[in-house]
Amino acid sequence: MQDHALTKTRVDLIISNAKQIITARGHSEKPATGSEMEELGILQNAAIAIQGQEIVSVGRSNEITNRYSAAEEIDASGKVVMPGFVDPHTHFVFAGSREGELELKIKGAGYMEILQKGGGILRTVRDTRAATKDDLLQVCKERARNLILHGTTTIEAKSGYGLTLHDEIKMLEVIRELNNAGPLTLVPTFLGAHAVPPEFAGRVSDFTTLICQEWIPEVAMRKLAVFCDVFCEKDVFEIEDSRRILESGKRAGLRPKIHADELYPLGGAELAAEVGAISADHLLYVSMKGLSEMRRAGVIAVALPGAPITLMVDRNVDARRIIDENIPVAVGSDFSPSCWLDNQELVIALTCYKLKMTPAEAICASTINAAHAIGMAKQIGSIEADKKADIVILNAGDYRFLGYRLGSGMVDTVVKNGRILVRDGRLAM
Ligand code: ZN
Repeated sequence: MQDHALTKTRVDLIISNAKQIITARGHSEKPATGSEMEELGILQNAAIAIQGQEIVSVGRSNEITNRYSAAEEIDASGKVVMPGFVDPHTHFVFAGSREGELELKIKGAGYMEILQKGGGILRTVRDTRAATKDDLLQVCKERARNLILHGTTTIEAKSGYGLTLHDEIKMLEVIRELNNAGPLTLVPTFLGAHAVPPEFAGRVSDFTTLICQEWIPEVAMRKLAVFCDVFCEKDVFEIEDSRRILESGKRAGLRPKIHADELYPLGGAELAAEVGAISADHLLYVSMKGLSEMRRAGVIAVALPGAPITLMVDRNVDARRIIDENIPVAVGSDFSPSCWLDNQELVIALTCYKLKMTPAEAICASTINAAHAIGMAKQIGSIEADKKADIVILNAGDYRFLGYRLGSGMVDTVVKNGRILVRDGRLAM
């Protein structure tokens, strides 16, 4: 529609007078690397026009309000406006909880020790197998509301607590139903190779064969997943089994993702590069060779700063080295029963304080680069015309309060697909 000098174009929503709009623009084609991660494309005293689900225009506040009129206007005076958070790594669907394990961890029990005692993930597998699809839908809807309150508008969500074909499909159907119901967008990942279930104890190779020959084709046929992931770890799925799983996924049309080099330097990053994974996640023990192969193959590094904290592991991914190597970094929560972290503001603070990334880098990593890590950068992750209107308004006058304040709850307004879900820090949906 062409503007007439006196006629304003009618839109559904205008967000005006923002002190800062963090656009994160210019990186929709390829993820930001190196110093690009600090280029947030900040506009001062700016506004956004939104029609339907999409952003129509972004610019100086007076220019936008001269060109457009809206049914609803949000005055963002003194506030920061930014893209909705994208969380590229969650284990969002599960039944039960594991609060009792915190005490075991405090007393020094490691991940593998808790696992070998039948706790940890195997406990969640028992609970998730026992849960119905409706049980899971109910708890996940509550979790989704919490994520939205904290400004997260899109997540990747993995299966991996069923570990039977029936229960893995049940989890993936929950993810699909939640996504269809909205408002949170969920991108599904098949993680049948998350752990070896008790019925396959000592027979990893047989379990791998079952996943490759029966589960992956079935999941792909039902179009229940976009990505295929594997928990590539010493004494779990080692390199050869991980390669078989990721290659089988690829043949079925599922792009590889990988839990790589989290607890031991096994060569997961090298495998990620070899199979052309979209991302390699964790990377606490990644090798120099692994990093250079990731860079060559264009694999995104997903840092998960909450994971070592909740595992009580005194080590972090060397994010500074990864950024220096010009590998794009995304940041996620690793939300799971082991790492119950549903507050992206806190994730960003941990990224700054533990991984020594700047607030600008952490914001890039949890918006546009995170969107790349889940194949969604054409639709979300930045504030640009024609993108989905997924927007967060913070009660802060400068974006650097993200990071600085440790998960303080600065989220004032959340807009998802053009719809206002949170106002004044409260759900309005
Ligand atoms: Zn994970």
